[in-house]
Amino acid sequence: MGKTAITADNVKKYKTIAKTCYAANIAYLILHVFYLVLFIISKLNILVVIDAAIIAVYLLFFLLIWKKKYYIYALCCGNLFFGFIGVTTVMTGFNTGFTFYLIGLCVVSFFTTYFSKKRGIKGSIVWVGLSMLIYLILYFVTAFNTPYYHVEKWLEVTLFSLHSIIVFIFMASYFIVFLKYAFSLEDKIMNESRTDELTQIDNRYSLYDYYGQLSNKDHYTLAIFDIDDFKVINDTYGHVTGDYVLKEVAKIATETLSDHYVCRYGGEEFIILLKENVAKEKLEELRKKIEGTTFEFNNTKIKITITIGAVNYANDIKLEKWISLADKKMYEGKSKGKNILVY
Ligand code: GH3
Ligand code: MG
Ligand code: MG
Repeated sequence: MGKTAITADNVKKYKTIAKTCYAANIAYLILHVFYLVLFIISKLNILVVIDAAIIAVYLLFFLLIWKKKYYIYALCCGNLFFGFIGVTTVMTGFNTGFTFYLIGLCVVSFFTTYFSKKRGIKGSIVWVGLSMLIYLILYFVTAFNTPYYHVEKWLEVTLFSLHSIIVFIFMASYFIVFLKYAFSLEDKIMNESRTDELTQIDNRYSLYDYYGQLSNKDHYTLAIFDIDDFKVINDTYGHVTGDYVLKEVAKIATETLSDHYVCRYGGEEFIILLKENVAKEKLEELRKKIEGTTFEFNNTKIKITITIGAVNYANDIKLEKWISLADKKMYEGKSKGKNILVY
C-alpha cells in the first residue's frame, strides 16, 4: 500500500539525498575530530570522552546512510547535535559560543522545508521554537551556575571566533544557494509567462512589456496580421494541421522580421512593432513570403495568405488604441478581398 513508484526522478532525488547525507556526516566528523584535538590540548577530559563517543556514533551513522535510512539519520544527527551543544555549553560556559549553532540550525530547517516536496512550515516553526527554548535554557543555566570547567581565555576566544565564523559563513552559503535558486526560478516563470506555448514566440503579455520599455515611440509602426480563412484550414485538415501552420507562420514572421518585434497576440493574429521607414517594405515582404510558401504536413500541401493592417504612432496614443486602429485597417483589408497590406 502506498509504495513510492521507482521513477528516474525518484532515483535522482534519492541519490542527491544520499550524497548530501554522506557529505554532512563527513563534515560533522571533521568538526568533532577538531574539537577532540582542542579538548585534549586543553585537558577537558570529560569532553574528550564524550567527543570520542560522538565520533564513534558518527562512524556508525555511515551504516544508516548506507542502509538508506535517511530520515532516521537526520533525526539522530539533529538530536545528537542538540545534545552536544547542551553538554559543551553547560561544561564550558555560554561565552564559548556553541549555542550559535542553534541559530544556524533554524536557517537549515527553513531551507529544508523550502527544498522538500512538503509545503508545510509548521515543522520549521516547531524547530525554531525548540532551538530558541534550548538557547534560552542554556543561557539561564550558565548565567546562574558556574560552568563545570574554567575554560582558559585563549580557548574561549578560539571557540567563540570559530563558532561565529562557521555560523556566519554557513548562513551566507545557504542564502546564496537560496537566492540563486529563487532568481533562476523567477527568470524561468517570467520567460514562460511571456512565451506563447504553441509557437514559442512572445505572447501578448510580452507586448505590454516591450511597449512599456520603448522610450520613444515616434517613427514606430504597429502592424497586426491575421491568417485568411483559417477556420477553413482547421475544418478541412483538422486542428493539429492548423497548429502546425500557426507554428510555421510564427517561424516565417520572426525570421523575416528578425530585427523587429513579433508576438502572437492571440488565435491566428500576430502583432509586429517596427520602424516606420522600413515598415511597408518589410510587411510586404512577409505577406509575399507567406503567400509563396507551401506548408506540408502529413503529405498534405496547404497554401495560405495573410491580411495586414498597419498604423504609425501618433498623438501619444495608448497601446490599446494603437492596436484597435491597426485592427480596423486589417478588417479593411479583409473586406477588400484579403491577402493585402492596408497601411
Ligand atoms: P478571416 O479570413 O476573416 O480571418 O477568417 P478566419 O476563418 O481566419 O477567421 P475566424 O476568426 O472565423 O477563425 C479563426 C480561427 O482560428 C477559429 C479558431 O478555431 C482558429 N484558431 C484560433 N487559435 C487557434 C489555435 O491555436 N490552433 C488552431 N488550430 N486554430 C486556432
Ligand atoms: Mg483569420
Ligand atoms: Mg482572427
